[in-house]
Amino acid sequence: MDVEAFRQAGKQAIDDIADYYAKLGIDSGSIPVNSVVEPGYLTPLIPDAPPQEGEDFATISADYHRLIMPGLTHWQHPAFFAYFPTASSFEAILGDLYSLAIPTPGFNWSCSPAATELEAIVMDWAAKLLFLDAAFYNSSGVGGGSLQTTASDSALIAIVAARERYMALHPEATPELTNLVIYVTTQTHSLGLKAGKVLGLQVRALEVRAEDNYALKGETLEQALNEDKSAGRRPFVLIATVGTTSSGAVDDLTEVEAALRQHPEVWVHVDAAWAGIALCCPETHETLRLTGINSVADSICTNFHKWGLVNFDCSTLWVRDRRLLTAALDITPPFLRTTHGDAGTVIDYRNWHLALGRRFRSLKLWFVMRGFGVEGFRKHIRQAIQLNELFSTLVKNTDILELVAPPSLALSVFRLAPLDLTKDALNTLNSAFYQRLSTRKDIALTQTTLNGAYCIRFAIGAARTTESHIRDAFSIVLEEARTVLDA
Ligand SMILES: *Cc1c(COP(=O)(O)O)cnc(C)c1O
Repeated sequence: MDVEAFRQAGKQAIDDIADYYAKLGIDSGSIPVNSVVEPGYLTPLIPDAPPQEGEDFATISADYHRLIMPGLTHWQHPAFFAYFPTASSFEAILGDLYSLAIPTPGFNWSCSPAATELEAIVMDWAAKLLFLDAAFYNSSGVGGGSLQTTASDSALIAIVAARERYMALHPEATPELTNLVIYVTTQTHSLGLKAGKVLGLQVRALEVRAEDNYALKGETLEQALNEDKSAGRRPFVLIATVGTTSSGAVDDLTEVEAALRQHPEVWVHVDAAWAGIALCCPETHETLRLTGINSVADSICTNFHKWGLVNFDCSTLWVRDRRLLTAALDITPPFLRTTHGDAGTVIDYRNWHLALGRRFRSLKLWFVMRGFGVEGFRKHIRQAIQLNELFSTLVKNTDILELVAPPSLALSVFRLAPLDLTKDALNTLNSAFYQRLSTRKDIALTQTTLNGAYCIRFAIGAARTTESHIRDAFSIVLEEARTVLDA
């Protein structure tokens, strides 16, 4: 493809993308939110080896529409309420487009000074947008922020740094690495267990109670610490969650801080992958325990690529002390050494993440924060929270459905709850209810369990979801609920 052919094909591609989003906005009913294909659908449709001679781009793009589109689940569809929202905005698409045009591996400042410097600046913008303490700013020279691929990577990095700090404080622990323990709760995302697997460390899941809305309490933490330490184990990091996956629970960071006063060697990583973005709205600060985050977190992560208007991937990770990160991750072989790096005058982001190279992700984050402004960002978050107020009220006003946990921001967890059923019978009923909902192509939801109770999650956040989509979704839920009860 030469420059002129690219110009033509590129214009066509932007037209196609614009048409797709226009359709999601005004005619989403014609697009099934869940894909309609069966497993293995693609294999018979695509040759089993690449073509010998290059093909015409028009043919390739036609096949994208013909073969790929039908196999998509449309995460930006206004009737997508499964898992969590996955952001997309035109500002971010364009930011990424420019970034694709200038590939740079970004491992050193000198790879492309703009890539490193913009990332350092926009991470400070993002920290300000979310009201994080100034200790986390890159401009502090001590703390700092960087862009990561996912919240799982962010947690892994935080744990590696925590382990390094622990080993520095306790050199005698080195021969007994297996005694190191990662603390999570039963509600922590599976990234905790995965980090344990990757690092070969034990993971202990602390219990939480329904009456505490599934949040970690200080007493539970303190008891576990005393128990483990007297048995010779070495808890060194706690993954606390602000906005758990199942129900949006917020661990009690004030109590965590108090409990850790006697255990200062425990690093606190705050996983706010989904909910953290909502900190842009001051009215969420109490619920999301911003004061606690700002005083107790050694590291905090939130994903702009979920609810934060930036296309995947864009996970933001801040640490209170960047030296702990680089102490754990800095490998500088001679061929990577530079005058600026040696002098410590620049950030070399390769020492802040797992890989060597990294994408130029800050462009799309910069475009989004400028395009929306703080107020535009808040409007997007507030709209989803208001829509969830509507949905949760509709659920509460029925006599066959109930909320299993208090609505959290833009997430409701509910189930069928007719009177006089045992716990097991209720679970069986709700499993049948979810099976019915999951076969529909016009709504996407996910199920979960909360301390043994089978329930359904309703997560709002797609940019094009409006009140009418919520009312339609509720009608579908109610219709299937009645069918299951009548069966
Ligand atoms: C979505 C989510 C994750 C996983 O995020 P990835 O970026 O896919 O790793 C982890 N924790 C919480 C609380 C989440 O909501």
